[in-house]
Amino acid sequence: MIRHSVLEKTATAVRARIVFPVAAPPMFDGVVHIEGGRVVQVSPKPPAGVPLTDLGDVALFPGMVNAHTHLDLSDRKKRLGKPGTPMSDWVRMVINERTTPKKKLNAVNSGAMQSIRQGVTTLADIATYDPLELPTINGGPRSLRFHEVIGFSQARAPSAHSGLVKKLKRSKAEGAPKLDGAPMEGVAPHAPYTVSPPLLRNLVNSAAEWDVPVAFHLAESKEELDFLMTGAGGFQEILEERSMWDPWAVPRGSVPLDYLRILTRAPKALVIHGNYLERKELAFLARHRDSMSLVYCPRTHNFFQHDPYPLEIALSLGVRVALGTDSLASNPDLSVLNEMRIAAARHPRVPAEAILEMGTLAAAHAMGLGHLVGALSPGRYADMTAVPIPDGIPDIHTDILTAVLRDATPPCQTWLGGETVDGD
Ligand SMILES: [Zn+2]
Repeated sequence: MIRHSVLEKTATAVRARIVFPVAAPPMFDGVVHIEGGRVVQVSPKPPAGVPLTDLGDVALFPGMVNAHTHLDLSDRKKRLGKPGTPMSDWVRMVINERTTPKKKLNAVNSGAMQSIRQGVTTLADIATYDPLELPTINGGPRSLRFHEVIGFSQARAPSAHSGLVKKLKRSKAEGAPKLDGAPMEGVAPHAPYTVSPPLLRNLVNSAAEWDVPVAFHLAESKEELDFLMTGAGGFQEILEERSMWDPWAVPRGSVPLDYLRILTRAPKALVIHGNYLERKELAFLARHRDSMSLVYCPRTHNFFQHDPYPLEIALSLGVRVALGTDSLASNPDLSVLNEMRIAAARHPRVPAEAILEMGTLAAAHAMGLGHLVGALSPGRYADMTAVPIPDGIPDIHTDILTAVLRDATPPCQTWLGGETVDGD
């Protein structure tokens, strides 16, 4: 539900004890001037003749950007499996979950509203549902929906590819979803154990042809690396069980770099997880940072008890790293702020500002939306979230950010295009 605190085209301003524009240094007692749903400027002085709301003791951030989730699993009350569950066992549990198309759509709506309540105003969703069936919801996050594609064997690859092309054509015929000309749909080849290299190549070529982004789970588990190397293990067993196994689909001795090379042809590629990417693969991502980004999902990474995440190496090499929550099947909530908090605790040598950027502007750039959202600067949408400042901290801006990241308080107010939204 939208509360019409700010009407379209009217001007307004909000002041906070500290504003983090992200694309510019933090500002104490900063004022965000908004007009027609967009930021006009962030300055110390309120604009003349414009109604001003003083938010008091809060830190004001751009709306958080979630670079990876599966909203169709958002009706879950708890995660699937136990911490440390092997990835292939967990994937089997996800496959065995029974649901209906209607339940999925309800879960997507529920996840969208949960996201808003957590201050997430833009997200990248992997869609196993038909986005055209979704009822319009007012006050939901800006959602880039990636059509998921699965089809491991050579026999299934052509129909998997033509199914995707059909979806893209249909959505174009109905007016492809866009945000100021930027595509809000994409292609999600699932993972190396469900999509073979030839199919991936075809899907990426189609994404390039339609000029839409690609999201691909890669190097998530050691089991996956073993599978690529040997063609054996838990993932092979799942494929066998489902009559999808094809011993010729992946050449023995394959490595994630083979897949990264294919992804370079995508207009934008989100490499999801990358928990076990090697240094040379991270360096490859850094060289392609204009189009390729790495998406780190800190709490999902913890849940599966993976080896330490190579965040410091990735950042030092210049990789664009974004944050994602992944789904409620491996994470307790859809809060990017909580992902930042865990990332800050796990990686104390990474500056708090870098972590904030990963959950805002870097994630927006990863999705091809960095010129529209992810920062509070002139011309971008006035998507914002306010977080209460914990008591008793010194008046130094970096300390406020660190204190917010050490705290557990959720956002208290969120705006989408200058209007407050409450996720109800
Ligand atoms: Zn995922």
